[in-house]
Amino acid sequence: MSTAGPVYLDYNATAPLRPEAAEAMMEVSRQPANPSSIHQFGRAARSHMEAARKTIADSLNVQPSALTFTSGGTESNNMVLAGFQTVLASSVEHEAVLAARPEANLINVDKNGVVSLHHLETLLSALSDQDKAGVLVSVMAANNETGVIQPLEDIGFVCRQHKVAFHTDMVQAFGKLEITPEESSIDYLTVSGHKIGAPTGTGAVWCREGRPLSSLLAGGGQEQGRRSGTENLSGICGFAAAARVAQPSTFEQMRLWRDEAEQLIIQHCPKVEIMGVTAARLVNTTCLFLPGLAAQTAIMALDLAGFAVSSGSACSSGKVNPSHVLKAMGRDDAAGQVIRISGGWKTTRQDFYGLAQAVIDLYKRKAN
Ligand code: PLP
Repeated sequence: MSTAGPVYLDYNATAPLRPEAAEAMMEVSRQPANPSSIHQFGRAARSHMEAARKTIADSLNVQPSALTFTSGGTESNNMVLAGFQTVLASSVEHEAVLAARPEANLINVDKNGVVSLHHLETLLSALSDQDKAGVLVSVMAANNETGVIQPLEDIGFVCRQHKVAFHTDMVQAFGKLEITPEESSIDYLTVSGHKIGAPTGTGAVWCREGRPLSSLLAGGGQEQGRRSGTENLSGICGFAAAARVAQPSTFEQMRLWRDEAEQLIIQHCPKVEIMGVTAARLVNTTCLFLPGLAAQTAIMALDLAGFAVSSGSACSSGKVNPSHVLKAMGRDDAAGQVIRISGGWKTTRQDFYGLAQAVIDLYKRKAN
């Protein structure tokens, strides 16, 4: 392990809190803060909350009034999906989509995990115009296990042609991909704070004007009746502070660092395979198939060597689950032998380089 301590390369699971976020949270936590109260404390809280809404809306290029605060990506996705009679979702969506609507019609993906436009078209063509009124297509912007980016413009075009609503789970792509939802064919967009260095328990839904957004929670009618419950003001302010600094331009160098690490590993361990390598991918993510080496073993050995990575498909108990993403990509052969490395705002070139060395060393010693 390096003297600087363990290297965290599991940002797709969660990012460390940014100092800007911690400071903003402290700042508003000093006073009682219920944005619904009429007195001056309440008014101050509301003004902080609306300023935060504007900052986050600006980072997403949307109008603040169309943004609803939630507790995170899971709630945001559930909220959008609950409003539709029929859901068509890609087979590589996060559980926060697939488990929210287990009966959803699944859209096939190719070997990289990219949605088949042909299959989407076939599924939509099979529906009557009457049925289409209650249909939502849900396809993530980028995959949490592989980083593979979906062709949102093309998917949106098909959705518009068939006059169905389109949702994208932008939890992993937020702060990494530039997006202009209002000018696109996206109707709903969901984000989560903790993936960009904001506190956990923060998130938001953007909903195109005129589209319905059902409330999951009955109560005081906060957030224009869309999300009851006293708003998490300190979390929201931390979320805004993180969104302000989590700009895609800050990730530009990471593509080079990630690619260098991948090339080094492949050069020394030619059997190792990078999942989704020929597709567009988030620059922070690499998903490595290590034939002959169990992911659980690799993760524990890398942890001992000072690198925190994951399998990308761990369940809540921390066990490595067979990945539905790899299965959908037709890569059952890779099940249980894949590790995910994901960088973020604190990551350096040396972190990726050191990780590559550790993977090479481990693979040469342990793979059978
Ligand atoms: N969607 C995607 C693509 C994710 O990666 C995650 C979390 O890993 C979620 C949704 C859930 O977000 P949250 O942890 O904020 O509930």
